[in-house]
Amino acid sequence: MTVQPKTMKERAALALKDDFLRGAVKTTTNKFFGGKALAQRSLGDWEAWRERGRAIRAHTLAHLDYYLGQLIDRVKDRGGRVHLCDTAEDAVRVVAGIVRERRARSVIKSKSMMSEEIHLNQALEEIGVRVVETDLGEYIIQLAHETPSHIIAPAIHKNRRQIAELFAGVAGRPLADDTGTLTAFARQKLREEFLNGDIGVTGCNFAVAETGSVVLFTNEGNGRMVTTLPPVHIAVMGMERVVPTFEDLEVMMHLLPRSGTGQKLTSYVTVITGPRREGEVDGPEEFHLVIVDNGRSRILRDSKFREALHCIRCGACLNVCPVYRQIGGHAYGWVYPGPIGAVITPLLTDDLDKWGDLPYASSLCAACYEACPVKIPLHDMLVRHRARYVAAGKTPSGERLAFRLFRRTFTNPGRFRLALKTAVALQRPLVKDRHLSARLPGLAGWTESRDFPAVAPKSFRDLWPELAAETGQKGGAADE
Ligand code: SF4
Repeated sequence: MTVQPKTMKERAALALKDDFLRGAVKTTTNKFFGGKALAQRSLGDWEAWRERGRAIRAHTLAHLDYYLGQLIDRVKDRGGRVHLCDTAEDAVRVVAGIVRERRARSVIKSKSMMSEEIHLNQALEEIGVRVVETDLGEYIIQLAHETPSHIIAPAIHKNRRQIAELFAGVAGRPLADDTGTLTAFARQKLREEFLNGDIGVTGCNFAVAETGSVVLFTNEGNGRMVTTLPPVHIAVMGMERVVPTFEDLEVMMHLLPRSGTGQKLTSYVTVITGPRREGEVDGPEEFHLVIVDNGRSRILRDSKFREALHCIRCGACLNVCPVYRQIGGHAYGWVYPGPIGAVITPLLTDDLDKWGDLPYASSLCAACYEACPVKIPLHDMLVRHRARYVAAGKTPSGERLAFRLFRRTFTNPGRFRLALKTAVALQRPLVKDRHLSARLPGLAGWTESRDFPAVAPKSFRDLWPELAAETGQKGGAADE
């Protein structure tokens, strides 16, 4: 794996040089976005559905202890085992414990952002277990030793030639880079893995409290293989992924695929309720539900950011974000990219020094909020994050001084007028076509690729009495 630069700015600068990445991200996100518009129209009043989604998430989070308790009871009633884990390390320990208990040698996985968050694959590989991702995109990035670059399209940044090279490494021979050859190869390889897996690990799109069911939305059918063929199934979920009832699940079933990929429904919706029961022909002998906190309780207690837990991981905010669309997912540096990543990474990691710059990767246009099926005000949260970062004294001293001066000047009419007059005088040698022709110290990032407008020679206050005199109206100084 390549070592990533430390700051968001450095990672973004690197991503901006990758023309293929920018093109691929744009094509895929455009496709998802176009599909979403059509799919949401088929549902009627989309805003009403969004509001229902928001209300369900808000209600569930407000009573999370109750619904988690109900979920745990129902899973146990159906013969499953539940593990509550405070931290990522606890969750990894639990899964590793089950693997050891079962003397498992191989684990097959369906796509799971939570397992990415707790770095499950690395931990299992360190104890000698073979881990195989079975979602095609995840399989590709596992071979490349990379992390997902999109929540629902993890290998969005890879082209066919790169994928053919990765698969050739597994095949031990060159492979043609046409889609048919590549998918046929992956299908054959993964089929062997499905049949030989000792344990299946999945994430959990939603867990239904009233029945103790885990629900998976997939498009490739691998989720069903992973949950039915191995003798043990472990589902790993963030503690917020609960919905109270199947009726609530139905709302999420309308919102998630439409928002994510523009599908009315994913190809497979798999509902698992406990291990195989007598008389059933398939399913695992053991079912484990690993419920992970890993910082979520802290977010739940924080009224400014609680709504970030409403997220249903559809990826719609990524698809519309003008920043994500230029730099892709890896520039965000951790597991979750895009606007939701910029919001939850600093919260989950509780590390402002390392991740406090992520909320600056936004134009605050609020397209993410408009796209979000459960109406999370991501743009507001990004501003709150920035305020926290500033309050913690993490911004450079020059920037702090500049903003202090800005506030002192712009909150006093006399100082403001004087500042304008001074700026007009000082800028004179630099003005060309009403723009400043030279790069300004401290504003290089802006002036490198854009014009910086010069301060107008006459302010609105100067113009107002002149205009009034011309039109014969009562003039005077503009109000202060
Ligand atoms: S924040 Fe909203 S749009 Fe973004 S992934 Fe979560 S649910 Fe989807």
